[in-house]
Amino acid sequence: MLAVVYKANSQVKVEEVEDPKMESPTDCIIRVTSAGICGSDLHMYEGRTTSKAGQVFGHENMGVVEQVGPGVTSIKKGDRVVLPFNIACGTCFDCVRGRTEACLVANPEAPHAGYGYAGMGPYRGGQAELLRVPWADYNCLKIPGKPGDDLEDDFLLLSDVFPTAYHGTELANVRPGATVAVFGAGPVGLLAGYCALLRGASEVYVVDSVPERLAKVKEMGAIPIDFTKGDPVKQIMDLRRGNPLIMGALRSGEEKAMGVMCGIDAVGYQSRDIKGADAHGGREKPTQVLEQLVELVNPTGSIGVVGVYIAPDPGASDENAKQGIYPLPWAKVFDKGITVGTGQTPVKRYNYFLRDLIIAGRARPSMIVSHRLPLQDAPDAYKKFDARKDGYTKVILKPQL
Ligand code: NAD
Ligand code: ZN
Repeated sequence: MLAVVYKANSQVKVEEVEDPKMESPTDCIIRVTSAGICGSDLHMYEGRTTSKAGQVFGHENMGVVEQVGPGVTSIKKGDRVVLPFNIACGTCFDCVRGRTEACLVANPEAPHAGYGYAGMGPYRGGQAELLRVPWADYNCLKIPGKPGDDLEDDFLLLSDVFPTAYHGTELANVRPGATVAVFGAGPVGLLAGYCALLRGASEVYVVDSVPERLAKVKEMGAIPIDFTKGDPVKQIMDLRRGNPLIMGALRSGEEKAMGVMCGIDAVGYQSRDIKGADAHGGREKPTQVLEQLVELVNPTGSIGVVGVYIAPDPGASDENAKQGIYPLPWAKVFDKGITVGTGQTPVKRYNYFLRDLIIAGRARPSMIVSHRLPLQDAPDAYKKFDARKDGYTKVILKPQL
């Protein structure tokens, strides 16, 4: 079968690899209909991880069940399914508490297991024609309709970025009426803004510099902030202070808290965005977004960090990042009594009810999808998505195109 294979830093190729085989009675094999390219793939693509040549990428996968093992009871050949990017056994101490991102069984060597990802176990990715799914009963979420229908891309996003964005709003404690700032308007940040609006936030600011992404922010009804136009913290506070309705509702003393109650980091560590290091030139240091959030979030507020601060990056120009250390201004976090939550998303915890929001027509996360391309276009798509060029915001590979 054909698959997207990592070759070297900034180089992937589409080539023939062996078809996957059933390895256990609880496996199934799916024929992939859609596989997303994710900002998380860029950590591997840009060489910040231990990814080895030959790795098949792809952790955002959806398809049709082709074959099931004799131990699989709740799904059958022909079912349309989407797969959480975390692989989980479903029965260990962490899984039964809904913490499927930390399944203790699926990858004995590290805290996480997933498809096609460095350090997440021996599982191949789904940017390919076929994919083996372990613990198929647990890891397949059944989807109505037919492959390629109007909701295909909405459902595909249940594999990762929609639940991850939702997780960001959960960690940031977004409630009806909340004021929210999201840093990053990539797929995760855009959908974090979208989820904040779904959850009834009163004001949602989304910070980035890429014009097409900021345009999407506006389209969904949030407020775009371009960080190249000045300190985003000041921009947001100035906008709030400049609104006579907000100011007119304050009691004396309340003007001290002109930041927001909820902050979300949907950027993470991206060496290419650090001035002097490489391409885009957005930040002075890896922790800039975290520091800005600590500044912007009001006392007693919450910060959800879903952006990945990657393990030691020996190639980094920053000394701390080299060791995987990302310092927080802890005294300020303490003084303000800010709650900080972070980690990989337990996709399974959210994807049932996010799926049902899609079915009910109350969520259309696919508004972030910019490109639907055949598998063969993956090398060019990776390049452009990585460079954030030509409006490449979210790419979905379609092996059957
Ligand atoms: P992406 O690379 O497309 O998006 C990052 C965005 O941040 C870009 O639009 C970039 O222009 C913007 N940015 C860069 N510097 C900035 C700054 N200083 N201020 C504001 N914005 C800035 O990637 P994505 O797919 O949206 O993913 C975002 C992050 O979420 C990545 O770190 C990814 O690994 C992570 N992620 C985490 C999980 C999880 O389980 N926690 C799951 C999926 C993705
Ligand atoms: Zn992803």
